[in-house]
Amino acid sequence: MPARRLGLLLVVCAPSGTGKSTLIKRLCAEFPALSFSVSATTRAPRPGETPDVDYHFLTRETFLDWREAGRLAEWAEVHGNFYGTPLEPVRQALAAGRDMLFDIDIQGAAQLRQSLGSGAYVFILPPSRSELSRRLSGRGTDSPEVVARRLAAAPREIEAAPLFDYWVENDGLEAAYEDLRAVYMAERRRPRYHPDLLRELLVQWEAAI
Ligand code: ADP
Ligand code: 5GP
Repeated sequence: MPARRLGLLLVVCAPSGTGKSTLIKRLCAEFPALSFSVSATTRAPRPGETPDVDYHFLTRETFLDWREAGRLAEWAEVHGNFYGTPLEPVRQALAAGRDMLFDIDIQGAAQLRQSLGSGAYVFILPPSRSELSRRLSGRGTDSPEVVARRLAAAPREIEAAPLFDYWVENDGLEAAYEDLRAVYMAERRRPRYHPDLLRELLVQWEAAI
């Protein structure tokens, strides 16, 4: 039987439009055992988004009910809407030794780090302001007002990047994906996620005596 592994929490943040969802979707596709934390939000679904796969789309009232009932591990108001991480799936993943990926904002990442005290925190940087603006508009899912608000919020988010463990610059998508993948691979090899490995290896020498 393979040695017990503990689940690792991979938290990914970026200014809106940087390409975080694109990178995360690719990581989840390559590693099906990596669970995506489906957030709750009061924002309306975008074309192509599937309820309960991309987000749990809630009314403001239901979101506040969830929050009051303690069902959220963290929550924040981002770009005028509420977003939050359901707690129970995080508990289940950790109990089962499964890795979990979080697409949350910088306020949520700070709360998670404080409440869970563990995890790997990755910040994705856009290559430039002009390219971020192009990507936000080019996505074609948000009104010009929403694009302007998200672009204006980016510097405050980028200023929080020093609080993170890793920086990945999303200039070319391939290189950025390789960097994010490398972070995940390296984190998985940390001794803290393999508490029984050495003992189970060394016991074989004791058994051979
Ligand atoms: P986020 O989740 O960070 O808001 P998305 O993943 O939705 O961003 O990406 C925003 C837009 O930028 C999308 O249209 C996506 O296809 C595009 N995009 C992502 N990464 C790159 C890249 N490296 N080069 C060019 N376009 C990109
Ligand atoms: P979007 O509306 O573009 O999907 O997301 C807007 C922002 O909200 C992104 O920075 C995204 O990471 C963040 N976000 C998504 N889910 C959560 C969550 O559960 N908690 C927090 N704090 N932020 C979230």
